[in-house]
Amino acid sequence: MKILVAVKRVLDYNVKARVKSDGSGVDLANQKLSMNPFDEIACEEAVRLREAGVATEVIVVSCGPTVCQETLRSAMAIGADRAVLVETDAALEPLAVAKLMQHVASKEGVQFAIFGKQAIDDDAGQTGQMFGALMGWAQASFASKVQISGDTATITREIDGGLETLAMKLPAVITTDLRLNEPRFITLPNIMKAKKKPMEVIKAAELGIDIAPRTATLHVSEPPTRKAGIKVADTAELVKRLKEEAKVI
Ligand code: AMP
Repeated sequence: MKILVAVKRVLDYNVKARVKSDGSGVDLANQKLSMNPFDEIACEEAVRLREAGVATEVIVVSCGPTVCQETLRSAMAIGADRAVLVETDAALEPLAVAKLMQHVASKEGVQFAIFGKQAIDDDAGQTGQMFGALMGWAQASFASKVQISGDTATITREIDGGLETLAMKLPAVITTDLRLNEPRFITLPNIMKAKKKPMEVIKAAELGIDIAPRTATLHVSEPPTRKAGIKVADTAELVKRLKEEAKVI
């Protein structure tokens, strides 16, 4: 069984996002970009499934500019077998990415796909679900445990107030929650090995797929700066201030 893992290159989670001066978006110039953390978890899970003999091959796929090859190399250093870059400089919405992933998944004949539950740049949380719908596959989002036996995947999901366990027939897609696993440390020998693994580049423009955006960003702004807090002398003063000054927002 082949597994497809979707890997997005995003602003590193340690970097404070800065808005462009014209308010048209987030300024990515000279910033550190790296693999979306939920996609690292997705890679780790796929590699564990291959190591357990459940999967035969892990293919990592990214849609974006040439530089995404670096992110795909990191995914192969975790242990993925090969990579596909669907290359485009266009700004991609979740539906466009889902369509490009549909193309790759159909061409490769994958049976299982793992997406992150959300990309930490735009927080859409849509791509895996849209991909599932386009493929006509079963889907389970926010997976915190994955077991595959024969043609059945049993997925535990984190929901409000507890855990839900679903069974679904393959082919299927899941999206990863934070607690699914802890990605392994990437070692230098594995970084070196990853440099030699196959990387296919497909030009998105040559696929005849409509990836035009359906929405327009009108304005992006920084969150309002928080007012400094105050120190109170004792609990009595705290209660008094809460009664008299605190407002329900
Ligand atoms: P989103 O729906 O944008 O929050 O993204 C959810 C997940 O879809 C991410 O964690 C990735 O696994 C995948 N994804 C989104 N955009 C891309 C992209 N440009 N290339 C590869 N995977 C992507």
